[in-house]
Amino acid sequence: MGETDRLLEVIRGRNAKTVGLQFPVGLRTKAVELAREIESRAGVTCLVSADPSFGACDVAEMPVDLIVHLGHAPMPHLRYNRVFFYDLPGPPLASLAFIDAAEPLLPNRVGLLTTTQFRHWLPPIKDHLERKGHVVRIGEPDRRVAYAGQVLGCDYHTATVVEKDVDGYLYIGTGDFHPLGVAILVDKPVIVADPERGTARDLKEVRDRVLRQRHAAIARAHDAQTFGILVSKKIGQERMDMALGLKALAEKHGRQASLFLMDLVAPDLLQGYRVDAWVNTACPRIAIEDVLQYKEPMLTPQEFEIVLGEREWTDYRFDEIRA
Ligand code: SF4
Repeated sequence: MGETDRLLEVIRGRNAKTVGLQFPVGLRTKAVELAREIESRAGVTCLVSADPSFGACDVAEMPVDLIVHLGHAPMPHLRYNRVFFYDLPGPPLASLAFIDAAEPLLPNRVGLLTTTQFRHWLPPIKDHLERKGHVVRIGEPDRRVAYAGQVLGCDYHTATVVEKDVDGYLYIGTGDFHPLGVAILVDKPVIVADPERGTARDLKEVRDRVLRQRHAAIARAHDAQTFGILVSKKIGQERMDMALGLKALAEKHGRQASLFLMDLVAPDLLQGYRVDAWVNTACPRIAIEDVLQYKEPMLTPQEFEIVLGEREWTDYRFDEIRA
């Protein structure tokens, strides 16, 4: 049964009259077509959420009977209210050429990692590498990720759980952010096999560049007196307890800290406040990927601890939201 048929059954079973649709940016091109198909086949009214949707951490409330969230796997530890996760796995694995491009860069014992989109490729890639003599591990998930070998930009459990059994990692995917977290968390090579470009690359240079940027952000915030601690309203990004703990820590060290509650965190929404530096407890990508867009330094919680002298730079940790 296709995903749309499965969805139509759920709509009928719940007797839903209104359906909300949430798309990540990359799937917006499907929005109008899917809304029209559901309306005509189920006799419901669809409401497309035009707010950005970044992950299963970010399922916005909508005034509808059923919310349909596309393109992300649910986070098992969250209690979603009337949400249908519409599974959209990527295309079938057409060629192993990009794996062969990565193979010379790999150590013997390797951990396989990917995003939900390519998760169904991991078993054939594992077989392929084992035939070439590698020992391959695919880490079991924790409570925040749904599938073995899946990593999120905020949860690297499937990498760290096999850390002792591997000498490096092979990440299957297109961007740098997910494997970057692994490269910073675990001191072992991370090779990216990119199925779109058909190429492979070692992430070491990106890792070193990002660590230099983080060091610079910490140095810029060193003498800051007033901090703004960002707390997310999103269901899977909210870390209020952590934010309260950081505020207390700042005050213990004679600095001021105020809490800022936000849904979307964006540079223009933070303008005008009398704050010397920000501390981000929302999605970890915000501080790392968007660092150059913010006027004031944007720190992760662990970096804030370094600024306050509670943690050493040599004990740098990549920020994760572990369930
Ligand atoms: S990395 Fe950010 S957007 Fe992605 S799942 Fe984690 S909190 Fe959500």
